[in-house]
Amino acid sequence: MGIYLDNAATTRPSAHVLEVMRDASLNCWGNPSSIHAEGRAARKCVEKARRQTAEALHAGEAREICFTSGGTEADNWALRGVAHALRGQGRHLITTQVEHHAVLHTAEMLAAEGFRVTYLPVDAEGRVSPADVAAAIEPDTILISVMAANNELGTLQPIGEIGEIAHSQGVLFHTDAVQAVGAVLLSLSELPVDLLSLSAHKLHGPKGIGALYIRRGTRIDGLLKGGQQERSLRPGTEAVAAIAGLGAAITDAVETLPERTARIAALRDELWERLRDIPGIRRNSPERDVLPGLLNVCLPGCEGEALLLRLDLEDISASSGSACTTGAPEPSHVLRAIGLDEEAVRSSIRFSIGDENTAEDIAIAAEAIRRISADLRRLRGWKG
Ligand code: PLP
Repeated sequence: MGIYLDNAATTRPSAHVLEVMRDASLNCWGNPSSIHAEGRAARKCVEKARRQTAEALHAGEAREICFTSGGTEADNWALRGVAHALRGQGRHLITTQVEHHAVLHTAEMLAAEGFRVTYLPVDAEGRVSPADVAAAIEPDTILISVMAANNELGTLQPIGEIGEIAHSQGVLFHTDAVQAVGAVLLSLSELPVDLLSLSAHKLHGPKGIGALYIRRGTRIDGLLKGGQQERSLRPGTEAVAAIAGLGAAITDAVETLPERTARIAALRDELWERLRDIPGIRRNSPERDVLPGLLNVCLPGCEGEALLLRLDLEDISASSGSACTTGAPEPSHVLRAIGLDEEAVRSSIRFSIGDENTAEDIAIAAEAIRRISADLRRLRGWKG
């Protein structure tokens, strides 16, 4: 195995999660809606995971957790579900320019249906100002959606303050916490949040499973039509083993959070210490109020994609500031929103450190980054 520094993209399922999923697949394979013993065993498994997820987030009741196919579905559901349920009340939504595409593209879809969407700008660290949120609220605003932590920069948003503002104006508040759950403490008994999206594969759980927390009493339509699963709001036979994996993953992540994240943050700081004197290097990620494992840097004179390919040849995995979708790299909307020009965006790369990384990984990766970036600059004749 090489050195994996792309934990914001996904994480490896833990041995414990795999064991729980194997056990669920072998012993809880019934249909949770069936009344017989096999069905009851599966139902027990699903409800245990629902309780575990609710407890990990300090949600008031387990029934406030609805399982989805992941963070993307949870985000789609929060925005479209609320917009459709409250369309008679208002047609304005507020979000930010740095959300994940699961939110941004859903907002675009709603705009095509006749809703109005305000996309708030962010500062140089990628943070939205609560005052801007307050100023953007209109009489017909029905939902504010601001992510808890940004996936490219790691920036934590002031979701407590934003939630207070939303509630003081009678507006619902959704947060995409896909990157934040398991990385920072989130307590729904204290946070003024009505809807929260999460995804298991970012916390050593399986892919294709996530949840939407829906605070009791929140009006929301379902996206799908079908059976009565998830209180008829999200029909479809439950993915029992994956749900059990999510329950185990989120419990493990939250129980060990302080020690794990302190260790990860120390490794992240060590990586920056080893890179910071590279001529011209800039830290795109904030120093404070940031995810523990995330370090996004700009290395002027280096093509991010070329650096990544060369690192990959040395078995070091990281990610760039551009999402390659149809083969044509699309410059990151997040890095552009913090004011980087196209050249700087193309020269940016993201390292995301996780539970499995060691100090040795950091030392090896830092040496490789220094050597390869110097090489790439030489090839381009970059003088700084
Ligand atoms: N939101 C954020 C902030 C993310 O980082 C991601 C995944 O990269 C998602 C949503 C989508 O989650 P999923 O991969 O579970 O669909």
